[in-house]
Amino acid sequence: MSAASVPFLDLKRINLRHEAAYAAALARVLASGRVLLGEETEAFEREFAAYCGVKHCVGVGNGLDALHLVLRAWGIGPGDEVIVPSHTFIATWLAVSQAGATPVPVEPDATSFNLDPARVEAAITSRTRALVPVHLYGRPAAMDALREIAARRGLKLLEDAAQAHGARLGARRCGALGDAAAFSFYPGKNLGALGDGGAVTTDDDALADRIRLLRNYGSRVKYRHEAAGYNTRLDELQAAFLRERLKQLDADNARRSEIARHYGEALRGLPGLILPDGGPADAEPVWHLYVVRHAQRDRLDAELQARGIATLVHYPTPAHRQAAYGEFAGADLPMADRLSAEVLSLPMDPTLSDEGVAAVVAAVRSACSAIARS
Ligand SMILES: *Cc1c(COP(=O)(O)O)cnc(C)c1O
Repeated sequence: MSAASVPFLDLKRINLRHEAAYAAALARVLASGRVLLGEETEAFEREFAAYCGVKHCVGVGNGLDALHLVLRAWGIGPGDEVIVPSHTFIATWLAVSQAGATPVPVEPDATSFNLDPARVEAAITSRTRALVPVHLYGRPAAMDALREIAARRGLKLLEDAAQAHGARLGARRCGALGDAAAFSFYPGKNLGALGDGGAVTTDDDALADRIRLLRNYGSRVKYRHEAAGYNTRLDELQAAFLRERLKQLDADNARRSEIARHYGEALRGLPGLILPDGGPADAEPVWHLYVVRHAQRDRLDAELQARGIATLVHYPTPAHRQAAYGEFAGADLPMADRLSAEVLSLPMDPTLSDEGVAAVVAAVRSACSAIARS
């Protein structure tokens, strides 16, 4: 049997599916004569807001800026605390730091890997201004409980939805579950551009207006500046590409779910392997990543690489152990430490074939038995 070779995420294959549509999108932008803040951005904002089920979408330069601008627009800054997950991509923390506020890490729930509402309450102080749950790996966070805490304690609730385009909790989609949400359209996300991009979604008219101001130099009218803003806009070309990709999003997410179901059935009960669940009972996750746990993660990783299966670790070093956050070096965050040592992401790609899925399954099965035998 020849060694199978399965890439982690084949971006070339994903994007080439849209070659003709992207060429037409480029032609539209060239013909319009606008490259920033034109019709394509407006159209994408309208279409993505409708998709998420909110009143407003404001396109910005990337996901980190989307998070940061919301915190700024709420006036969160020095002296304020913002609760973030201890186990997340570092951008969630960086947005808080960039606003001048202090990130306060809270440990995840052991099964969902998402912010644990039971621990959030204990982390709230008189300085706390907002909660930033992350729908990590595409699984909706426990938003009902978090919304209740935020309302009772007078806090803002900002979803980091960078990994959850299209995910649902009950009847609503991620992006419509808090006071505002931040999305990233980094190429590897479920809805990815051909470069950087991001967006804020919200039902709040005043917030949307403020984000529009802040993303464009604090200016509504050219050369008149109402606020010390930023330059972080979703450009016309990325917006035009994203309009094409958005048409494919539900089908891509359905394929991701199919792959996740397949992994879940075929890998159940293997020695030492912990499989992910789909989140709260009324959640529909979008499987941005399929993340398993194993006490001997590095060994499992090596066994899979040897069998031609590409894997990644999300994330190998928690934010509190990064040089960028030296002031957190002594923080006691055992769940974040443990997850960073045990998680492993299997190939997850909407263009992955059934043969590719079968190759991953066969490799994980044989790798887990090899580890159990030794
Ligand atoms: C990707 C990501 C971001 C940042 O998005 P960028 O567009 O890369 O700036 C923020 N939070 C999470 C959870 C992410 O996965």
